[in-house]
Amino acid sequence: PGPRAQAARANQNVPGVKTIIAVASGKGGVGKSTTACNLALALSGFGLSVGLLDADIYGPSMPRLLGLTGKPEVVEGRMMRPLQAFGVKVMSIGFLVEEETPMIWRGPMVMSALTQMLREVQWGELDVMVVDMPPGTGDAQLTMAQSVPLAGAVIVSTPQDLALIDARRGIAMFRRTEVPILGIVENMSTFICPNCGHRSDIFHHGGAKREAERLGVPYLGEIPLSMPIRESSDAGRPIVVSDPSGPQAQVYQQIARGV
Ligand code: ADP
Repeated sequence: PGPRAQAARANQNVPGVKTIIAVASGKGGVGKSTTACNLALALSGFGLSVGLLDADIYGPSMPRLLGLTGKPEVVEGRMMRPLQAFGVKVMSIGFLVEEETPMIWRGPMVMSALTQMLREVQWGELDVMVVDMPPGTGDAQLTMAQSVPLAGAVIVSTPQDLALIDARRGIAMFRRTEVPILGIVENMSTFICPNCGHRSDIFHHGGAKREAERLGVPYLGEIPLSMPIRESSDAGRPIVVSDPSGPQAQVYQQIARGV
């Protein structure tokens, strides 16, 4: 980051948290939350102390992905205790609002919810905090990118052109706020038929790698479109913990090593 951005962020460091990385996407539905969650679990599997902050105000998915239903306990007057899943401390906007509540958040409300989740939660000592950002590049996202002291951002995209155009916008947004791009991940890449082994590029293949080369940012790898990834997510036991030595988990571990 440039000196101005660094100075601004130094003031807002979250005590005890060494590194904060964002997982972002130009649009919804590309697997950003699934990637953020498995990435956090992979980092935890390496022995790091990890926090996961679900800041996706439009559709918080960590409660479901991690099978968490409780509400954070309020301690010391106003501090919230994060929930725990598979050794990772988790805070989600989804713990604070009912699932049916319409997400009509305006700038200032987004900011206060975010500030609360960063600073009024007993995160303790963390090596890494992974932030699942809201999808897109609107005002809310820009405000977040500016106000969370981010060390860098991971951009998730599907391989086809349309998604990549949005991913490009996301990268531009982080560059404008002087947040380094840690790399692009291609999600829902090649599908390998579990019955016959045939490979199908349902959403195309290789687009994210080409885009990374074009933009001069690291390419972190591709995650296949795979039924076990979706099933384990729906079941609240993400693939990195439900099948830690399987091929899909290995992909997330490789990406985690790259960030
Ligand atoms: P986003 O956070 O970008 O909106 P999600 O992480 O919620 O996207 O993923 C959207 C849907 O796609 C979910 O049902 C999820 O389980 C599924 N999904 C994500 N990545 C994969 C993948 N690599 N293979 C199969 N399904 C996936």
